[in-house]
Amino acid sequence: MILILQADLGEQSPIFQQLLTHLRGFSGIHFRVHQEQGAEQLLSEIYLIGDTKQLRIEDMEALPGVEHAIRVSREYRMLGRHSDDQRSNGFEYNGVRFSQDNLHVFAGLCAVDTHEHVEQMLRALQENGQVCTRMGAYKPRTSPYAFQGHGKSCLPWVFDLAGKYGIRVIAMEILHESHMDEIREALEMTGHPTGVMLQIGTRNTQNFELLKAVGRQQELPVLLKRGFGITLEESLNAAEYLASEGNTKVVFGLRGMKTNLGDPHRNFVDFAQVPVVKRLTRMPVCIDPSHSVGSRDVGPDGIMDVFHVTAQGVVAGANMILVDFHPDPATALVDGPQALLLKELPWFLEDVRLAREVYEERRVLAAAQSLI
Ligand code: PEP
Ligand code: MN
Repeated sequence: MILILQADLGEQSPIFQQLLTHLRGFSGIHFRVHQEQGAEQLLSEIYLIGDTKQLRIEDMEALPGVEHAIRVSREYRMLGRHSDDQRSNGFEYNGVRFSQDNLHVFAGLCAVDTHEHVEQMLRALQENGQVCTRMGAYKPRTSPYAFQGHGKSCLPWVFDLAGKYGIRVIAMEILHESHMDEIREALEMTGHPTGVMLQIGTRNTQNFELLKAVGRQQELPVLLKRGFGITLEESLNAAEYLASEGNTKVVFGLRGMKTNLGDPHRNFVDFAQVPVVKRLTRMPVCIDPSHSVGSRDVGPDGIMDVFHVTAQGVVAGANMILVDFHPDPATALVDGPQALLLKELPWFLEDVRLAREVYEERRVLAAAQSLI
C-alpha cells in the first residue's frame, strides 16, 4: 500500500513524526519513506510492505498527514500504475520534462570518436532545434578487441561542446558504477554545461548491483533498456530496482529482442509494447529504432526501415527516441552501418512530427468515443 502525504510535509514535522509512530505500531508491516522535492512542492510517499491486506483504505486515509492511500495492485510498487492511482507521471531534469504525454528525440553518435564529429553532430542538432542527444563514452562490445569507447577522458570536452550547442540532456551508457562517478565528477569539473541521463544497456538490465548503485543517487535520471533475452516483466522489475533504491526518474527503453525470428532486422522490433509499458507503469517509454533494425535498408516506398519502425513506435505513443546518426558513418568506430546521415536529420524529424500528429489525433478520436 502507498500512502500519499499532504504536500510540503517535512519529515521533521510533528504530524509526520506522529504518523511514523503510528505505523511502527503495525505488526508484520514495515515501511519506506520516499520524498521528492519538485519545482513547487515537497512530495512524500510512504510505502507499506508486508501484510497490508488487514489495513482498510479509509482507516489509512484518516491518519494524520495522509491525503490518499492506494492499494498496490501490481508487482511494480513504485513505478507501476495502480487502481485509483491519480499520481502524475514523469519528471523534470535540467529544464526538460519527461512524461508519458510528450516526446523527445535523442539523435546522436552511438560512440564518441573525434572532436570534429561530435561538434558536427551537435551543431546539426542545434540547427534543428534539438536539446537532447545520445553520446556513448563507454561501449559494451561483443569482442574484447573492439573499440571500447574513449571513457572518462572524453567527458570534459564532450560536456563543454554540448553546453556550447545548447544541449540539455545527453543519454550516455554506463557499464559500471565507477562510470557514474566519473560522469558526475566531469559535470562538476566543467561547471554543469549540460545534463546526463545514465543509460543502462540491454546487456546490463539485470545487473542488480549496478541498478542498486544507480538507484541510490537521485541527481541523474536513468534510461533503462529492456533486456534483449528476458521477459518484459523481468525488465520492468529491473526498473523497479532503481526506484526501490530511491531514483524514480526512470525512462524505460524498448530496443528489440534477440531472436532468430528477428531476421532481417538486427533484433525483433518490439514497439507494439509501447502502450503495454505505459499501461503497466507510469514510466515514459523510449524506443531505439537503430539498435532494433541495425541497417539502413530501404523499402520499395523509399522509406528506410529505421524510419518505419520509429513511426510505428511514435504512432503508438512513444515518449523518447534514441537514434544513431553520424557525420561520416564509414569511419564510425561503432555501429556505422545503422547510422543516419546528418543531412537526413530534418527528414527524420519531420517524419517523427507527422507520426506524433497522428498519435495526437488518435487520442482525440479515442476521447470522443468515450463521450458517445
Ligand atoms: C546503445 O544504445 O549504444 C546500445 C549499446 O544499446 P543496447 O544496450 O540496446 O544494445
Ligand atoms: Mn550502438
